[in-house]
Amino acid sequence: MLDSVFITGGSRGIGEAAVRKFAAMGKRVAFTYLNSEKKALVLSRETGAFAFRADVTNHIELKSVIAAAKETIGSIDILVNNAGISQIKLLLDISIEEWELMIKTNLSSMYTATRAILPDMLTKNAGRIINISSIWGKRGASCETHYSASKAAVTGFTTALSDELKSTGITVNCIAPGVIATDMNSGFSESELEDIKAHIPMRRLGTADEVAALIYFLASPEAQAVNRQIITIDGGITL
Ligand code: NDP
Repeated sequence: MLDSVFITGGSRGIGEAAVRKFAAMGKRVAFTYLNSEKKALVLSRETGAFAFRADVTNHIELKSVIAAAKETIGSIDILVNNAGISQIKLLLDISIEEWELMIKTNLSSMYTATRAILPDMLTKNAGRIINISSIWGKRGASCETHYSASKAAVTGFTTALSDELKSTGITVNCIAPGVIATDMNSGFSESELEDIKAHIPMRRLGTADEVAALIYFLASPEAQAVNRQIITIDGGITL
């Protein structure tokens, strides 16, 4: 049985929905937060999940929080690499600091978390690694070169690691959401959101709960044969 779950960026949005889903299904859950301490503590109280403050861009800090999480919930069976940031800027306006922050948050954190957790999975010859990419990593989004590049790299990380682990019982998959109703899209005005919806065949944004349900499925026994996949959940934007 895969019972213990570690989720990066669990304080809000998709990560929060995943924490709630796994906790409701009786899993032992640990999650990280950075700035949303109040939300994280409420979530922890409501679900019984354990909240750990860690900046995922800080290799040492994330590693030590993962060690603390293992002390609390036991060796990790399911890793959800979810923490992420986005930014809308022309390439020529993106500073090197902004570029590096994007890559560190959305990509390098996956290296750190996976490297810290994988040995336990190898020992058990079982585990699930679920990485959150984006449809913009597949098709690229104007004014989001750094975001799109980081998310494209997440798909490469996923397929490469899956190949590396092919003779083990560990699956590695990636979810590529479209436009999901979370704080990440709260910067759009009502009319911008209407315009976005008009470009989605389903004519609405996805929800964090819908993405969490897919994450949960990939971690379930029924998904053992699902491996090395980039699974889109976008209401039909990408064909
Ligand atoms: P939110 O902005 O709602 O939440 C982001 C989460 O990441 C928060 O819990 C935040 O923690 C955490 N986080 C961000 N930076 C750090 C950091 N340096 N250290 C630790 N935690 C951090 O985003 P979503 O839920 O929408 O996005 C979740 C994932 O899904 C991201 O990888 C995103 O790129 C991806 N995605 C989202 C889409 C969307 O339309 N919403 C579409 C495609 C992909 P805190 O608040 O505590 O600082």
